[in-house]
Amino acid sequence: MTKQEQTNNPHDICSWRPVSECQDCAIAGCLKCRYNPGDLLHFIGLFLSAFIPALIGMILSGYGWYLLGWFGLAVIFFGFWEIRILCSHCPYYAKKGTTLHCIANYGCPKFWEYHPEPISTPEKIQLFIGFTIMCGYPFPFLILGKQFILLFLAVWGLLMFWWTLQKYTCSQCVNFSCPLNRVAKEIVDQYLMRNPVMRKAWEESGWEVSESFSPEIFF
Ligand code: SF4
Ligand code: SF4
Repeated sequence: MTKQEQTNNPHDICSWRPVSECQDCAIAGCLKCRYNPGDLLHFIGLFLSAFIPALIGMILSGYGWYLLGWFGLAVIFFGFWEIRILCSHCPYYAKKGTTLHCIANYGCPKFWEYHPEPISTPEKIQLFIGFTIMCGYPFPFLILGKQFILLFLAVWGLLMFWWTLQKYTCSQCVNFSCPLNRVAKEIVDQYLMRNPVMRKAWEESGWEVSESFSPEIFF
């Protein structure tokens, strides 16, 4: 590894090592484990399909000024709160730098240090509270403003957002301890075996790594 790569990857996370090191990886192709702009665009497109109807609906309802409250909450949640309770545990967060380079919250600030251990139960509860506030905020305004078509489109967009995210992202995401994550334990263990800093933190939290792996189950 070059000095520059070591500097950018202080926790020696495989997702930030040279791609040539992926050649002998037993789980290559199973995970969204390397930054890919296409994955980021997919996430942004999904998000907009729910956000745009809600945004238009709030404006047409006459509650446009209340968007400031939503945006303020978004700054707090995506800038500080979610980043600490969710993202600071993610391998994408481990890269050196002041902003996130990942497939969802790209560009968010990194005020916290990297936490290689799994997300705790209180953090998971906070995450669901935060998601509920952020997703639910516009709906009372759409109902009060009788914008039922846009309400339907926003609910549909939100359902599609979460369903698609679960099926195509959470099933391959490297933030394995997120409560929405759906990666099989065998794959998680293989990733941990390639990442000693994470493995140590996970084992100290009680996780047991099994080194047996049957690729034919997954390929
Ligand atoms: S798990 Fe790590 S080593 Fe394997 S393909 Fe992904 S980034 Fe490469
Ligand atoms: S948890 Fe998701 S949003 Fe946060 S750093 Fe990891 S990939 Fe990005």
